[in-house]
Amino acid sequence: MNQQQIWGEEIKQWKKDKNAIILAHNYQIPEIQDIGDFIGDSLDLSKKAAETNADIIVFCGVTFMAETAKILAPKKMVLLPSKHAGCPMADMIEPHDVLKLKQEHPGVPVVCYVNSSAEVKAVSDICCTSANAINVVNSLDSKKIIFIPDEGLGSYVAEHCSKEVILFPGYCATHYMIKKEEVEKARKLHPNAPVIVHPECRKEVRDASDIVAGTGKMITLIKDHSSNEFIIGTEEGMIYRLETLFPEKKFYLMSSKLYCVNMKKTTLEHVRNALLHHQHEMMLPEPLMEEAGESIKKMLMVG
Ligand code: SF4
Repeated sequence: MNQQQIWGEEIKQWKKDKNAIILAHNYQIPEIQDIGDFIGDSLDLSKKAAETNADIIVFCGVTFMAETAKILAPKKMVLLPSKHAGCPMADMIEPHDVLKLKQEHPGVPVVCYVNSSAEVKAVSDICCTSANAINVVNSLDSKKIIFIPDEGLGSYVAEHCSKEVILFPGYCATHYMIKKEEVEKARKLHPNAPVIVHPECRKEVRDASDIVAGTGKMITLIKDHSSNEFIIGTEEGMIYRLETLFPEKKFYLMSSKLYCVNMKKTTLEHVRNALLHHQHEMMLPEPLMEEAGESIKKMLMVG
């Protein structure tokens, strides 16, 4: 057995002995996706965290995801295997930015993308993911909303609802790397493949594509789509996920720039160490969990 296989075996054993569950985001490296009990987008994984009977949740993703899991399962031990796995988009906004927006637009509700810190969620009115953002915004009884922190997703939502959307200039460092030229180049190489991009992409990229969808919706759409090949405009980990689910179809990554360093920080060794030594445990102050939890739970009620 090589070292990877040894860690893989140890992970299986510790998971069983400690009644642990491994949640892995669609963008994780193949080795991590392979050991995940559940693989999915932020919304799927938050729901799994909320309903699991496991005592320990090992969250293979980035910090804001482990925070969300802890908020939804406060009595469980939530572990983030790589403590350095953050999200540059989440770091672009602080609670004082939200409070300033609220002051400038009194009474306007703040919709907060889950890709944000617990502190930012705590001063927001409701959360959303890329999967439910339009439904969340439409569920609010207000003609105007403030959308934070992602300008890409916020502008996409604005195009699909009849409300005025006030945006914050945050962005995903990975999806924002892509420009319209990349879509055109990929189309030339694979003229018969529909182009699917994530709503975090720039407007010019969304407009040049055939379908805009978060990772969960991409899976459902591809399953029922008549085409056997697709150009994928989201983080490259999704290609492995799609190839595993649909081995008979072909997937082309739109650009090698679609690589999130933070999503690749978690390794098998980290997961094994997390289970063995209970590192790195997500701890949040009670009042913060309660306040941020309000915004997350309101989102889950919408769906
Ligand atoms: S892909 Fe973008 S939003 Fe997701 S963790 Fe990486 S930087 Fe953050």
